[in-house]
Amino acid sequence: MDPLRVELAGGAHSPHVRIIASPLYSLYHWVAGLGPMPAVDDPPLLEAVRLMTAARFPRGRHGPWDRWEAAIPAARTVDEVIQGLGDRQRETAEQVGRAMELALPGFLSTVWPAQQSALDEAVATIQGPLASALPAMVQAQAEGLRLHFPDAVDVYLVVACYDPAGAYSHPTTIDVTQYRGSALGESLLHELTHVADVETSRRGSASLKHEVSAAVEKQGLDGAIAWTLWHAVIFASSGYQVRRFVDPAHGDYAERRGLYRRFGLPGLAAAWSSYATGAISAHQLVDALVADAGSAAHRGPR
Ligand SMILES: [Zn+2]
Repeated sequence: MDPLRVELAGGAHSPHVRIIASPLYSLYHWVAGLGPMPAVDDPPLLEAVRLMTAARFPRGRHGPWDRWEAAIPAARTVDEVIQGLGDRQRETAEQVGRAMELALPGFLSTVWPAQQSALDEAVATIQGPLASALPAMVQAQAEGLRLHFPDAVDVYLVVACYDPAGAYSHPTTIDVTQYRGSALGESLLHELTHVADVETSRRGSASLKHEVSAAVEKQGLDGAIAWTLWHAVIFASSGYQVRRFVDPAHGDYAERRGLYRRFGLPGLAAAWSSYATGAISAHQLVDALVADAGSAAHRGPR
C-alpha cells in the first residue's frame, strides 16, 4: 500500500511539488464519497460508510468538534483538557480506521484496479507536458497575481473525491477523474495558487487580492463580492497560464462551466489576457472587474 510519489523540481520562484497518489487516501475518499446512503448491497461496506459518516459528520452544528470539546467542561486542569481532547480525537481516528479496514478488501478487489490506472494516467500527464511547464506557469502566476509560493507543496491525487468540486487546496487534493490532460494542469495550478494565497498572507505581503478588496470597498459593494472576484481572477489566470505554456487550445474551466457568466464577468478571460500581455494595467483590470460586478449586483442574481 505504498503511496506513489513523483517529485517536480522547483525553480527560483516555484515550489518543489511532490505529487502523491496514495491507495489509502483513495480508499478514504471513496468511502467518504459514498455516504451517507449508498445504494450498495454489501454489509461490510455499508457498515464502513456508517462509521465514516458518524466520524466525519457527527450530529451537531460544529462537526466532530461538538464531540471533542465535550471533554473540556469535565476537566480540572489544562493537562486534562489535552488528555480529554486527545482521547476523543482518538475515538474519531479509530472509527475512520475501522471503516477503512471494513472497506479495504472490497476496495482492493473491485475498485482499486481501475483507480490505479486512472492515477497512472494522471501521473503520466503530470510527468510529461506539465512537469517542464510548471515552473514557468508558477512564476507567471506569481507575477500576475503578486503572490509568493511556498518552497514545497504536497499534492494528493485521488479518485472519487468526496468534494463535489473534485479539488481543494488544504491539503491540496485533486480528483483525477474530474480533471484530465490540460484541465488537470489548470486544476493543479489553481489549487497551488490558493496555497500561495495563504502563504502570501502568512508573510504579511499584499497581493492583487488587496487591490480587488480595496476597489470593492471604494465602490461600496458587499465585501463578499471581493472573494468572488478574486477567485474568478485565480480561474482566469490559471487557465491563461495553461494556454500560454502547455496547450494553446486549452479552454478555461470557469468558461466551460459557465462560472464567469454566473460571476457577472463574461469578459474576464479576455480581460486577463489584456492584463497579462501588458495592454492594460492591474489597476485598469481591477476597475473593470469591479464595475462589471457592480452592475451585475444591481441587476440582481441570474
Ligand atoms: Zn478555487
